[in-house]
Amino acid sequence: MENNPYPNTAIETEEIWRVYKTGSLEVAALKGVNLQIAQGTFAALKGRSGSGKTTLLNCLGGLDSPTDGKIRIFGEEIHSWSERQLTRWRREQVGFIFQSFGLLPSLSAFENVELILRMSGVKGRERHEKTVHCLDLVGLTRWMHHRPFELSGGQQQRVAIARALANDPKLILADEPTGELDSTTAREILGLFQQIVREQNVTFLVVTHDNLVDDYVDYVLFLKDGQIDLEGQGHDAVPEAASAPAVVNADPVASG
Ligand code: ADP
Ligand code: MG
Repeated sequence: MENNPYPNTAIETEEIWRVYKTGSLEVAALKGVNLQIAQGTFAALKGRSGSGKTTLLNCLGGLDSPTDGKIRIFGEEIHSWSERQLTRWRREQVGFIFQSFGLLPSLSAFENVELILRMSGVKGRERHEKTVHCLDLVGLTRWMHHRPFELSGGQQQRVAIARALANDPKLILADEPTGELDSTTAREILGLFQQIVREQNVTFLVVTHDNLVDDYVDYVLFLKDGQIDLEGQGHDAVPEAASAPAVVNADPVASG
């Protein structure tokens, strides 16, 4: 990290491609994506179904690897890493949140969060305190001994958020996190994300096609057919609140 040439950049990609091969068929889900997202930003990635959002998010989080191109996360060139390095990095540095929550049904909210810390080797009292703290941050103290089926969709997503926070990640990636929630609950969750970005010193990228996010994020990027769409609605989607140029897009016009 001492040689990070992009000190304020959390996420940077250079011409990333992801080509899926199924038999003789090739599908290019990403076709040369260039983007930069500054540290401490709450950014949204929007685009139609099939535009490549999940593929891009998975590449940024090391769940998938690009076929070509470069990805730097806090200056680390993760595109060149082995599966083993990526696995360790993901566990220690990245928080993931998914549409369908991904909780283990037989474990309580507390146990679901604690499991992540257990896997990272956090012991005893520290593990207990961190788990309680994360559940408190998402407002679930009263519900921590309930299992997922005893919780509402919004509460389940809060457990997943607590779990994503458990390792103090610098980067949180969320894929359609409000896709299964009604709009009131979706707003509560987006407000919570915003609060987390302000208070926890994280960079947060949310993939969605939900227009509600426009009221919460600092910046919106658009993906269209596997490329960043600079002609998209991005120009008028930058909220007034984004006084600091938190995100630097590849397009100088978009930030000016
Ligand atoms: P989005 O999340 O925006 O809906 P995806 O990243 O899931 O888009 O998909 C982008 C494109 O890549 C789509 O055409 C999809 O069919 C294709 N795709 C995604 N995953 C795979 C896969 N594992 N194998 C083959 N094609 C895939
Ligand atoms: Mg998707």
